[in-house]
Amino acid sequence: MKQHARYFETYLTSTTPAGWLQRWLELQKHGLTGHLEVAGYPFNTRMWAGPALPMTHGEPWWPYEQTAYWIDGLIRCGYLLGDDALLKKSKQQIDHVLKHASKDGYLGPKSCKRPMHAGRWSHMIFFRAMIAHYHATGDERIVPALEKHYLSDTAPHNGHRDVCNVEIMCWVYGMTGNKAVLGRALKAYKEYLDSPADQNLKPAALARNAPATEHGVTFCETIKVGALLYMCTGDAQYLKASMDGFKKLDRFHMLIDGIPSSTENLRGKTDLDAHETCDIADYTWSAGYMFMATGKTAFLDKIERACFNAAPGAIRYDFKGLQYFSCPNQTIAANNTSHALMASGSHWMSYRPRPGTECCTAQVNRIIPNYAARMWMRGADGAVTPALYGPSVCQTEVGSGKVGVQIKEETTYPFSERIDFLVCPSKTVEFTLRLRIPGWCAKGRVLINGKPTRFRCKPGTFVDVRRTFERNDRVTLELPMDLKLVRCKNGGIAIERGPILFALKIRERWEVDGDDENSTREFPAYNCYPESAWNYALDLDEQTLLKSVEVVHRPITAEPFFPDQAPIELRVPAYRVNGWRLRYLKRLEEEAAEFVEDDNGGGRWRAFTKVNRGDFVVTPPLPSPGTLAKRLGRKRETVTLVPYGCTHLRITTFPQVPRKFG
Ligand SMILES: [Zn+2]
Repeated sequence: MKQHARYFETYLTSTTPAGWLQRWLELQKHGLTGHLEVAGYPFNTRMWAGPALPMTHGEPWWPYEQTAYWIDGLIRCGYLLGDDALLKKSKQQIDHVLKHASKDGYLGPKSCKRPMHAGRWSHMIFFRAMIAHYHATGDERIVPALEKHYLSDTAPHNGHRDVCNVEIMCWVYGMTGNKAVLGRALKAYKEYLDSPADQNLKPAALARNAPATEHGVTFCETIKVGALLYMCTGDAQYLKASMDGFKKLDRFHMLIDGIPSSTENLRGKTDLDAHETCDIADYTWSAGYMFMATGKTAFLDKIERACFNAAPGAIRYDFKGLQYFSCPNQTIAANNTSHALMASGSHWMSYRPRPGTECCTAQVNRIIPNYAARMWMRGADGAVTPALYGPSVCQTEVGSGKVGVQIKEETTYPFSERIDFLVCPSKTVEFTLRLRIPGWCAKGRVLINGKPTRFRCKPGTFVDVRRTFERNDRVTLELPMDLKLVRCKNGGIAIERGPILFALKIRERWEVDGDDENSTREFPAYNCYPESAWNYALDLDEQTLLKSVEVVHRPITAEPFFPDQAPIELRVPAYRVNGWRLRYLKRLEEEAAEFVEDDNGGGRWRAFTKVNRGDFVVTPPLPSPGTLAKRLGRKRETVTLVPYGCTHLRITTFPQVPRKFG
């Protein structure tokens, strides 16, 4: 069997996270990932290992989708930490499903066996957890069980979201070489393309130079299907559809924190556009496959950007709460402040265990475990590739003699510009260590045992360090991070430095929302209010950036995303903008949706608009550039910007002080 992938994932247990990354996973363990039952139904049930779960949202698979997301994050987190408690919880789910397979091989809840709208979607999510378990243990039951499930299943897998089962079918094909499974995957995709479902996601629509209106999760999950089939067949047409989908997201929907706007449909790029937390998990997962299919470093840059910015920005620092919708500009996050078009005026933008529908509460557990699981990949040519950077240890084998080698990645990246790879082979051995030079890095450098080398470090490429490695060889990658001013919609500007985006540090007042039925002493639901001024315009442009901004480095702790532990601060000149303040509103428009069932067990979502009435307080849009000069305060002040991920309230896209002012 020929595989056309350029890169492959390695065994889950070959990577051990260290430093801040390990600490993050521990926070997950002590926070929501280890205790998601606090978020209520369906997380407080026996999930996939019990009697049929009652449905709450019109479709029987709904509670299984949510619990499967969690089990996937839980099991990866468990293996990465080597934590028995997390593993026990997740493995019993997998054991139950394997032991209770139907005679024909069907895996999963019997209540979901009959064909229905998106009826196999939740299975696909659960099977990812089974694959993670296989990649950690080599459990011999997994591959044949999944193979039998797909070969016997009479459900078509060709509908909305169902087509995402191609992911699992391609994995089974990769493990077995069974052409019948690949045949089913190709048939499902072909029938999907011929069906009326998801018009935005058909190749012609993806290639069109126009925005999409599709649901964000559906879009981010489904655009990878072409890349998966390409890796099995080598047919470039499949890959093109996926590439076009990613280009469309970049062009029309990408927000500055690295995730496309999606509330819940894809939206534009204004300073008030936000995204669902689910999309952080889905987008980064799909981008990982895009990297494996294409070998393009840009997809790794995208994953880092999303995981270092959007992800910590949407999650409370102690991993005990999250937002459903998250926005680069949000100056209040309470139970009446969501400015997104869906669930407007609600608590969906506040930080709590269950900030909206259950999906984000479940998906949030996947983001960083998936990041860690895919840090160390192997090229099709065998090159050892630390694809995503961060503190970790990789244990692998190289060369025809399968020589064991341990590589310690010593760094506090993304807060440090230096990454050391300490290579310890069990005996001297020749192999390639492939290092990525991110697209943002103009002056990268590779040193070996402290000595400069002649490697050419072009941004957006890989450097192949091929040599005979000896014990304790040290390869150092220097990635200088320059300040960059980014121009946004509505005349706004933002500042980034390497993979880190910066936002105004706003003093945050956290109040427990006792009205939230999922609020407990251990896992409170919070309202968060601003306690310091945030209405600043930055007095900066591209020419003055370097001399006007002071970069202050502080000691890097194990918790660099905690609000009081920001490792880097920027001091930036600014003026207050008079009259730019929170908006108090009595009515807000909402774009809602309801599921309409048909007689065949199918159905569809119907969108409608309505008006919500109440007392709402929302983040205002940027002041219009035309009126800005008249509204600026007299005093030039210095404000502090911190990494986006250290903030829960923030301004990221700022008005720019007109050049002739002052
Ligand atoms: Zn969600």
